[in-house]
Amino acid sequence: MIDKERLKILTESAKYDVSCSSSGSARKNNGGVGNASYGGICHSFTQDGRCISLLKILMSNKCSYDCLYCVNRYSNDIPRASATPDEICELTMEFYKRNYIEGLFLSSAVEGSPDRTMELMLETVIKLRKVYGFYGYIHLKGIPGADKILLDRAGSYVDRMSYNIELPSEKSLKLLAPQKSKKSILVPMANTAEEYIIARKEKNHRFLPAGQTTQMIIGASPETDGQIIRLTEGLYDKFQLKRVYYSSYVPTNSKTALLPQDPVGLLREHRLYQADWLLRFYGFKAEELIDKDENLDPTVDPKCSWALKNIHLFPVEVNTASPEMLLRVPGIGFKSASKIVAARRYAKLDFCDLIKMRVALKRAVHFITCDGKFGGQEKPTAIKNLIALSERADTFEQMSMFSNGEISFSVLGGEL
Ligand code: SF4
Repeated sequence: MIDKERLKILTESAKYDVSCSSSGSARKNNGGVGNASYGGICHSFTQDGRCISLLKILMSNKCSYDCLYCVNRYSNDIPRASATPDEICELTMEFYKRNYIEGLFLSSAVEGSPDRTMELMLETVIKLRKVYGFYGYIHLKGIPGADKILLDRAGSYVDRMSYNIELPSEKSLKLLAPQKSKKSILVPMANTAEEYIIARKEKNHRFLPAGQTTQMIIGASPETDGQIIRLTEGLYDKFQLKRVYYSSYVPTNSKTALLPQDPVGLLREHRLYQADWLLRFYGFKAEELIDKDENLDPTVDPKCSWALKNIHLFPVEVNTASPEMLLRVPGIGFKSASKIVAARRYAKLDFCDLIKMRVALKRAVHFITCDGKFGGQEKPTAIKNLIALSERADTFEQMSMFSNGEISFSVLGGEL
């Protein structure tokens, strides 16, 4: 069994990886231990505010690469450790039986070569499934540069795979992660997407039932949110990704002037997640949300920002507007838009009806009429100020689980 000291090193080293939030996998349990959850796995939060529902661990933090933003880089003087496949399997089983975890998120630094690292990771997941009988959720980080055969094989044993895109441009990769290239990351992503499509056509639901995801570090390099959102859109279109995760940059004792000295903060990450949500579920295009050389407005969410730039399209009459247009009204989300469309078949709706449907009227009121009545502000600056104020009022500090409260962070609530 792995000793405490190595366990500490290998779990601490994995904490900056965020692409692990949910499963969406319906893997069958054929008499072993554990279940992957279709609806996703619930989270708890670590001391620095990141989620844990899975045992998040590296096989090794002895990296041969020297990515400047990474705590595990070769040139960083930190304690090093690695674990064997059996040690990871035993740990997963013991933690699962004690109800500490619901699944495994296994990643690794590149120890030696990508192939050797991937071989050990593959051996681990095969053993977990076949020898230890573990049917719970497994998310495996693919190692770019490893042989396609190893990567494809892994896809049949795990629920989700991801390759970190790391930085939003080739130029930044060259500067900050010289051993990596855009091609070395995008090629395995494209292969996995292809294998995924073939598997679905053949009704093979054992190959990556929860698909593939990726993660991008935000703010370590100078790319704007406009560039990041365009890249995100391209990744969803080309590689059938389930999610793109954003991880705001946190300094890791790197002395280089190439990196910012301060953490980027969670608000930028939050706005990117909101914009990402609009791309995936609200029918927005990246170019509508933001210009290429701009950052998202920190004071209001991206949907409000879009509506304010397109104020000539508003107000819309809730009793007659198309469902697509209703979805573009700040404060009207999917559920409330569906309720409006269903209810207005039988009666004209007024503001009281919208409150009952849980429309966020503080925002929506400036962009709609109800049976011809308008109750909001007309000037974009006044609307923006009011919405920013109400968002600040809806922002609450997440309660800290730890005594000194220093690590609490803000959570923004409400429908987009
Ligand atoms: S390859 Fe780069 S990002 Fe990955 S662990 Fe090594 S130094 Fe860190």
